[in-house]
Amino acid sequence: ALSRIWRCCWGRHYPVSLLIPYFSGIILAFALRPYKMTYRQIKYFSFPGELLMRMLQMLVLPLIVSSLVTGEGPFLVNMFPPNLVEACFKQVRTPVPHACFFLPTTLIVLYASMPENVTGTLENVTRTLRSLQEVLSFEETIPIPGSANGVNALGLVVFSVCFGLVIGSMKQKGRALQEFFSCLNEAIMRLVAIIIWYAPVGILFLIAGKILEMDDLAVMGGQLGMYTLTVIVGLLIHSLCVLPLLYFIVTHKNPWVFIAGLLQALITALGTSSSSATLPITFRCLEENNGVDRRVTRFVLPVGATINMDGTALYEALAAIFIAQVNNFELDFGQIITISITATAASIGAAGIPQAGLVTMMIVLTSVGLPTEDITLIIAVDWFLDRLRTTTNVLGDSLGAGIVEHLSRHELDAQDSELGNSVIEEN
Ligand code: ASP
Repeated sequence: ALSRIWRCCWGRHYPVSLLIPYFSGIILAFALRPYKMTYRQIKYFSFPGELLMRMLQMLVLPLIVSSLVTGEGPFLVNMFPPNLVEACFKQVRTPVPHACFFLPTTLIVLYASMPENVTGTLENVTRTLRSLQEVLSFEETIPIPGSANGVNALGLVVFSVCFGLVIGSMKQKGRALQEFFSCLNEAIMRLVAIIIWYAPVGILFLIAGKILEMDDLAVMGGQLGMYTLTVIVGLLIHSLCVLPLLYFIVTHKNPWVFIAGLLQALITALGTSSSSATLPITFRCLEENNGVDRRVTRFVLPVGATINMDGTALYEALAAIFIAQVNNFELDFGQIITISITATAASIGAAGIPQAGLVTMMIVLTSVGLPTEDITLIIAVDWFLDRLRTTTNVLGDSLGAGIVEHLSRHELDAQDSELGNSVIEEN
């Protein structure tokens, strides 16, 4: 019987069984709350969870480098039709003279008809540009256990892609390096398989520890409750309607089957609040459960975990509007557009670590002149919303990888047959 339970929990039903520690963690935390544990005791209690977090973080750096450098990622660059840039240029060329003529004239008409609005708009534009500049100077880091400063994520991605391209262009000479990084990647994925066994235990203690740390769970009521609910509904609409619909429209495949294969990664995101710590599990889910081509995952996932954060963008925009409402600050149309642009930019600038979005929120608030210290208003519920938006972030990257694979299927098959032919020739 024990072996059957074991097989059921860690075998085919593993993703579903991950929900058990999640809910057990919540129950355990509520059972322990009356004992009012000290901060130190809670830290000791959450140690098994911290261990999971560190084990996953330990893999992120070698995983990103080996995936992007392997050369298969940059091969994607070759997949685009060679005349794509030229075609884009042709498309752009015709409207450009028109735009050159219409844009200034339209602006002049606008300026003449509503001078005060234009001055306001110009102010908005300057603020937005200043905020975007701030995002560019923001250093997005990946934490490395044992290192205080972590690694600059965007820099790492750029370096690895460039390095991979150079190795790819070295043809025969670069083979050894390519194989080295390929083996490294494989070894990391084997480590992931081991860590997955431990994940349920880690998730239980991560969740329980976080709930024990909270001083007052009643803060979720009232105005803040409405804000929390709005963010949850927004994230649900995006995750359960927009993203699956997009996947279906492009691929004509059932998105729910794809999402079922991702469950393990989604639950890990919910437990760790970090899309970069979840990255190793996301790789495994996509490759093993959903059969997404490695050439696609190796390129799309590391880049996606660094810059593509749908959930964070959605949350930042809503949080800024909430703070404006609390301050009785009327937002005009221009300011709402400014918030959308800076929230998107701020989500790109946010690292895939717990509550990074809260920090980059400052940029969104300054862009429309809202008080940055009001971030404290939403801190109380952020630990919870962070888990949900991280899950949306991971889902967005994964469905994105599915879509990219579908769109590049033709080129992938062509590469495969080319490879097959060369192997036959060599033999
Ligand atoms: N925790 C999120 C992530 O890792 C980032 C954020 O704070 O929004 O994706």
